[in-house]
Amino acid sequence: MRALFVTSEVYPIIKTGGLADVSASLPEALCNLGLDVRVLLPGYPAALQVAREKGSGIIAQLDIGEYAVTLYETLIPGTTVNVWVVDCPALFDRPGNPYQNDRGEDWEDNALRYYLFARVAALIALGEAGLRWIPDVVHCNDWQSGLVPALLPDSRPCPATVFTVHNLAYQGVFPAETFRELELPDSLWHFSGLEFHGRFSFIKGGLVFSDRLTTVSPAYAREIQQPEFGYGLDGLLRHRAPVLSGVLNGIDTRVWNPENDRFLDHAYDGDSIHNKRLCRADLQRNLGLDASQEKPVLGYIGRLVEQKGVDLLLQVVPEMLQQGCQVVILGSGMPHFEQDLRALADLWPGRLSLTIGYDEALAHRITAGADIFMMPSRFEPCGLNQMYSLQYGTVPVVHRVGGLSDTVTDPLDSSCSLANGFCFSGGGAGAFTEALNRALRCFQDPLAWRRLQINGMNGEYSWQRRAGTYTEIYKEALAERR
Ligand code: ADP
Repeated sequence: MRALFVTSEVYPIIKTGGLADVSASLPEALCNLGLDVRVLLPGYPAALQVAREKGSGIIAQLDIGEYAVTLYETLIPGTTVNVWVVDCPALFDRPGNPYQNDRGEDWEDNALRYYLFARVAALIALGEAGLRWIPDVVHCNDWQSGLVPALLPDSRPCPATVFTVHNLAYQGVFPAETFRELELPDSLWHFSGLEFHGRFSFIKGGLVFSDRLTTVSPAYAREIQQPEFGYGLDGLLRHRAPVLSGVLNGIDTRVWNPENDRFLDHAYDGDSIHNKRLCRADLQRNLGLDASQEKPVLGYIGRLVEQKGVDLLLQVVPEMLQQGCQVVILGSGMPHFEQDLRALADLWPGRLSLTIGYDEALAHRITAGADIFMMPSRFEPCGLNQMYSLQYGTVPVVHRVGGLSDTVTDPLDSSCSLANGFCFSGGGAGAFTEALNRALRCFQDPLAWRRLQINGMNGEYSWQRRAGTYTEIYKEALAERR
């Protein structure tokens, strides 16, 4: 089976969030199952640099309206997965992140950029890009590739389409005039089309026109059908429920594995978990924290945005510090959160370490060196950090939503033989504090703590099984087309 995996980010080429991790790991796991997969990625500067360094070849040249597009073939670094880079300098070769400029503002021409990207995907899918390779399935991801299913005809010999929602909060909604400027056919606008409250929605293209819909955890698949998490699309998603399923993301267990993590000076597994203390000592030393052992180190890594419950962190962290815990925070995001966290860190030198920015190595060191990982997300489609933590024997304390509720089991919910972390419901600071306090009490009981750690470390987080589920979904989508 041939699959074209259309995505706006791929680790390690370009990453703003979990989508990048999935876009590297899932295609690789699918290749390992024998599928023939090509990843399609916009030609951002980082992607062009990989293409240049790896001496890649030009496989197609296309004219789309006034834009000349060159398609390069290269490999996702560290893998044998082919990635096709859509080079259109006027639209993609610019500094900043994929979606925003250096000032944190969305690029004004985002609709045009991802429309062009979708057109390239559609030409490949229809065999009109001059390539000998035509996919059986086109797998699109999030709003940036939402137009692809809309641009493909509804009948054979067109490939089947699968659309994965990684985060429904980002929808790619633009003014209605943009729809007209792109000269899309009127038929795509009304009658369950791309119109959303009088505006032009990219994500609706994926949600309405794909043969199969998936999202990144079973709980999130249920949640997005409810008004609270559906952002006005819950009705459509309930309508499409028969073709919607939740497949939990996996993690790249070669990159995230305490037995051979290249960012750590000390390796450990379940049998040598005492070495985790050495990772904690390294972390404390490197971040200038006191070398205390009795109280746990609490970690947080992630975007500093409302979704991640940063307001809850700000409310709860002072109390944890007062109780003698240390706190390590790594992230970047909304300026007011960064400011508030800086102010808090200034009050607690040697006890609260704050790193504003993106730091892959430090993320690994925190994941290994912390005792507890905090994830109070308001909503969480899947979440990767809690799975990294579980894999590293770092006990997660999480809000019971989305993928967090699918991966973290609280001792109160199960016999202790299954528990691997602590959950709170309701989303308030009080509930979060209560869950953290339960974790702190458990930390004082080495045997009970060890059991939680080992349960986490014994979990199955790899992509292999998940890739099998995606293959089944591809087959179902294909069977219906035939
Ligand atoms: P989201 O995609 O909503 O940001 P996920 O938990 O799915 O959240 O994925 C976040 C990914 O980004 C994880 O791999 C996490 O370790 C990484 N990450 C987030 N912020 C940082 C940071 N400041 N430094 C290093 N890695 C980060």
